[in-house]
Amino acid sequence: MNIILLGPPGAGKGTQAARLEAERGMVQLSTGDMLRAAVKAGTPVGAQAKAVMAAGGLVSDAIVSALIGENLDAMTAGQGAIFDGFPRTAAQADALDLLLAERGRRLDRVIELEVDEDALVERVVGRFTCANCGAGYHDRFKRPVADGTCDVCGAHEFKRRPDDNEATVRTRMAVYRAETAPILPGYEARGLVRRVDGMAEIAEVTVAIEAVLGE
Ligand SMILES: [Zn+2]
Repeated sequence: MNIILLGPPGAGKGTQAARLEAERGMVQLSTGDMLRAAVKAGTPVGAQAKAVMAAGGLVSDAIVSALIGENLDAMTAGQGAIFDGFPRTAAQADALDLLLAERGRRLDRVIELEVDEDALVERVVGRFTCANCGAGYHDRFKRPVADGTCDVCGAHEFKRRPDDNEATVRTRMAVYRAETAPILPGYEARGLVRRVDGMAEIAEVTVAIEAVLGE
């Protein structure tokens, strides 16, 4: 199956994609990761992208399409793709259909991890991690058993990401809506969109996604 996974930052998209990769052998094709990998590996497409980015330009749809094509070609026929960060325009959605069709594939589902904006703000703003081992905590939902001591490694230093604040979360939500607005109606019309509650427990979200994939 080939799917598009949609959801604003903090919805748990990365976590769920990692689970699909581990459990179903799917491959996450994230535009940003693919670009970085291609530039690092020095592939023809990577060299093109590097030149554009060095000049301060935006990587064109043609380059991104070529990049996705390269990555799809590197997959085995049985491996499904999880698209992340692409498409973001109706033209890119058409390009994706073509890229898949050229390889005997098709888009099977568009899964949107839905979040409640206020709850997301609370979730993101309260999170912190152990500075030593990276264990994740939350002011309200998951405090260390002994205050100020990491449950996992016993360290006493914690850190917070500077962009984990309310204004950033709300801006990210607005960007997310602006990015998905051009593509969702088209996919809705084709009956491909399924919505999953991204605010549920991680395992429950996985079960819901599995149910969609098993339809
Ligand atoms: Zn720790």
